[in-house]
Amino acid sequence: MAEMNKSNALKLFHDLYENDKSKTIWISSPFGYRTNPFTKQKEFHNGVDYSAQGKSVPCYAIEDGTVLNCGTDVSGAKFVYVYFPRLGMVGLYYHLASINVKKNQKVNANTKIGMLGKTGNATGIHLHFSWFKYADYPKSMNSRTYYDYNTYQFPSDKIGTPVKRDENVDQIEVIATVLNGRKTPSLKGERLGYVNVGIYNIIGKAEADNYTWYEIEKDLWIAYNKDWETLLPKKENEVEKLKKELEAEKKKNEALNKQVLTLQDTMNQINKLSKI
Ligand SMILES: [Zn+2]
Repeated sequence: MAEMNKSNALKLFHDLYENDKSKTIWISSPFGYRTNPFTKQKEFHNGVDYSAQGKSVPCYAIEDGTVLNCGTDVSGAKFVYVYFPRLGMVGLYYHLASINVKKNQKVNANTKIGMLGKTGNATGIHLHFSWFKYADYPKSMNSRTYYDYNTYQFPSDKIGTPVKRDENVDQIEVIATVLNGRKTPSLKGERLGYVNVGIYNIIGKAEADNYTWYEIEKDLWIAYNKDWETLLPKKENEVEKLKKELEAEKKKNEALNKQVLTLQDTMNQINKLSKI
């Protein structure tokens, strides 16, 4: 039996409890070459078969997507095709007992696609799940390139593109791996995902919800805390630094001159008084 990638399976079956045997999901037939149980011929199995103790449990959309098509094919199998645009992939849910969605319906990770069944040519209740690129969707079933959903590597949902250290601009370095990026500078702002570790240019600054917020890309804000970020202020350029020092000296001199004048004044007063 194939080693099951639990995190991938969990996206299809929310009720995947390790300690509840009645709800345990396993792979009853892996992706790849196998002997067809009906024809006894070696053939390519273009999906992963998931079983749940022979029970008809619900299966779900993996993430945000659209139902491309659903219905019953010539073999009597109930099927649903769902397109997941972030991944550029299509999932085919096959052998369903019932279908819970409609064509063109928008779905998300909480949308129940249907119940596991054995419609069509199936020996028992299970989900056959095929996984292929959206570009292959218009092709015939046999000319598509299929991928093993069980070993599919989901792209990271991290956001932000770090830049190189530049001493001429104010920058901030994200050091925590689970720092939320938000669309607006507020704890209530829409969460866009975790920000990639690395250095970013500071393009905006705001105060809200007891945090100083930094905009590190257009409409991407992070709440500052020294535990998860380091500020990298721009290095002052030498000429500007000398100008500032000169300015400070001038001010000091002016203040001293004023003091001298005040002292002279006082002396004059004293002199006047002493003549009386
Ligand atoms: Zn199958």
